[in-house]
Amino acid sequence: MQASLRVGIDVGGTTVKLGALDPAGRTMGERSVAVAGVPRVALVLDGIAAAVRELAGGTPATGVGVGMPGLLDRAAGRVDESPNLPIFNGCALRDELARRLELSPELVALENDANAAALGEARQGAARGERDVLVVTLGTGVGGGLILGGELFLGAGLAGEIGHVMVDPEGPPCGCGSRGCLETLASATAVRRRALALGLPGDVEQLAAAARAAEGPERALLAAVGRDLGHGLAAVVCLLDLRTFVFAGGFAAALDVLEAGIRRGLTEWAYGERVTSIRLARAALGSAAGWIGAALLPRPLMSAPHRPHRST
Ligand SMILES: [Zn+2]
Repeated sequence: MQASLRVGIDVGGTTVKLGALDPAGRTMGERSVAVAGVPRVALVLDGIAAAVRELAGGTPATGVGVGMPGLLDRAAGRVDESPNLPIFNGCALRDELARRLELSPELVALENDANAAALGEARQGAARGERDVLVVTLGTGVGGGLILGGELFLGAGLAGEIGHVMVDPEGPPCGCGSRGCLETLASATAVRRRALALGLPGDVEQLAAAARAAEGPERALLAAVGRDLGHGLAAVVCLLDLRTFVFAGGFAAALDVLEAGIRRGLTEWAYGERVTSIRLARAALGSAAGWIGAALLPRPLMSAPHRPHRST
């Protein structure tokens, strides 16, 4: 294996996807390992280690990144709590993988799975070549990954959480304790709720298809949802002057019917000529974004040996 081959691991609810990138960022191979039904985390990690060795062709890997859902202690390389993958709770993931792969733990990076996927899209997907990007994930909730200067920006650990920017102070209560957060108005879950309240079908794909086909209540609803999204993004534009937003997740397939509303919301709440130059794009890497982004996570020993791990 070449010295700078990077391996990325994306831990999902049913499957772990992993792959390797060569120094030019090209995919050298992909594998998957089952998680669903596996009783012990050690067995999953054994499977991951075997797949990494296969990808690396018998040579020890020099850098591994892991995207993991849940609450993580980045400094300790530990999974504190992963609600959908409880066998990982308390797992010293970084050290356990490092031991199995005979790597120094400093060569294994651990990051939230959504952040890793955002980095993948920004560097190799829909925003390739751009330095400052917000990746917005429209799914059960609204997630975000902020890339500034080509790298993930975490702040103290939770930067990029666009889903909890308040858009309507009178809006529905949010799981975070606030109300009217973007997530309560523009996630797939929220759109389903809004549609049912209007007597429309609760299936977001059906809503998008109807909105594409003709004028009507579906188009009006998605215009309103898009406008709420635009209002949320306007806060980001005013603060950071971002010009590129990438939309990932299942509901991002409706971007074509949301776009007019998003632009209207942006124009209303952000100011200046720049609003017209903002690019709205759909994610391009699909389910590979997670492992590709994980492979691209910075590892202290590879980039700056003297610097300690950033802690959350
Ligand atoms: Zn919230």
